[in-house]
Amino acid sequence: MPDPLSLNVQHLKASETVAISNEAKRRKAAGEDVMDLGVGEPDFDTPAPAAQAGIQAIQKGLTRYPPNVGIAELRRGIAGQLSRMSAGRAIDPDQLVISSGSKQSIFNACFTLFGPKDRVLIPAPAWVSYPQIVHLCRAEPVLVPGALDWGLKVSARDLDKHSNKATRGLILCSPCNPTGAVYTLAELKSIAEWAAKNDIWIISDEIYRRINYGPGPAPSLLDLPDELLERVVIIYGASKAYAMTGWRIGAALGPLHLTKAMAALQSHTTTGANQPAQWAAAAAFTDERVDAEVVKMVAAFRRRRDYLVERFRTEAPGVEFVEPHGAFYFFFRVDGIREQDPVTGGGFCEQLMQQEGVALVPGAAFADDRWVRLSYAVSDAELENAMDRIVRFIQRLASARAA
Ligand code: PMP
Ligand code: GLU
Repeated sequence: MPDPLSLNVQHLKASETVAISNEAKRRKAAGEDVMDLGVGEPDFDTPAPAAQAGIQAIQKGLTRYPPNVGIAELRRGIAGQLSRMSAGRAIDPDQLVISSGSKQSIFNACFTLFGPKDRVLIPAPAWVSYPQIVHLCRAEPVLVPGALDWGLKVSARDLDKHSNKATRGLILCSPCNPTGAVYTLAELKSIAEWAAKNDIWIISDEIYRRINYGPGPAPSLLDLPDELLERVVIIYGASKAYAMTGWRIGAALGPLHLTKAMAALQSHTTTGANQPAQWAAAAAFTDERVDAEVVKMVAAFRRRRDYLVERFRTEAPGVEFVEPHGAFYFFFRVDGIREQDPVTGGGFCEQLMQQEGVALVPGAAFADDRWVRLSYAVSDAELENAMDRIVRFIQRLASARAA
């Protein structure tokens, strides 16, 4: 018997999204005809000016330890980007901590804010890592189911119903992974007012903010007045809209006393994010050519979204889904496809992989296994090919019901 591991990891499970991506890569490398619409990672290359800035940083010898909180150029660059997206709102770069991916920013925020006996509300379906990160802080994640007729979003009233004296935090994600739903400013405001009234911290994960299909970026808590932001941490980063997943750059913006604590925590864990990657990201947030690339990538995601929605509507008309308004995910319900003997998300994904070679993520990873998540951050040709296979598979399942 090996020694038992610490209570710190009593709930720990490896990330399902990462595991599915690794499995799809393994099968591809073994020569199998596999398409990966599982992982949420843009198919685009990092825009050249950002990549060049990373290369130049290495050539200039900017390869030593970075300032723990992040280089000033990147903190200013992100502050400027956040300010532009929120009507010129003043953002103090000193309130930003740069980390190795926004996943670490979320971890830092949770670890400095939550601990044993604290409850943290998480609207569900929820991105796979939120409950795990809360468990790592020895706090208790409390899933709050979203309303079906409302894009699986939650309201202040839903949150209130799941809240008690021990509730200390809320992790909000808009545009949402895994549904693509986007909270309106009025919805955000009502949640922020409820949280402020109840002294509840909001960690607002806005990593997909620029991938929004309405006009401009998605509404943000930064669009609300100062008095609603006293207990708010905004999570942002380079991975998604800037196609920089492998550079591992994320950021947290919060009140100074909290960012100081997050920086101190990070000074004992990573000593700050990879320095050349920080220079690359600084270029990404400030170079107009990169900005133009982001606009093009978002237009491509929107086109793919339209294509996908149209095919589901016409070729799989009984299948329920959340109307995606942002991010690059499509969340559809599989338990109604074959009414007698309903299929689960896990069963659907397993059979789809075996029969058609397409990797998707079972809803169980997001706390609801009646659903399945598809990531359309793949090329148009790949999406078309994968959709042929998925539609064929759904139609086969549905006709098994009719038989
Ligand atoms: N938040 C959400 C909602 C995500 O989907 C992801 C995906 N990786 C992250 C945070 C973390 O991204 P990264 O660490 O690459 O910045
Ligand atoms: N966030 C992406 C996803 O949901 C990337 C993998 C991960 O970090 O979970 O697929």
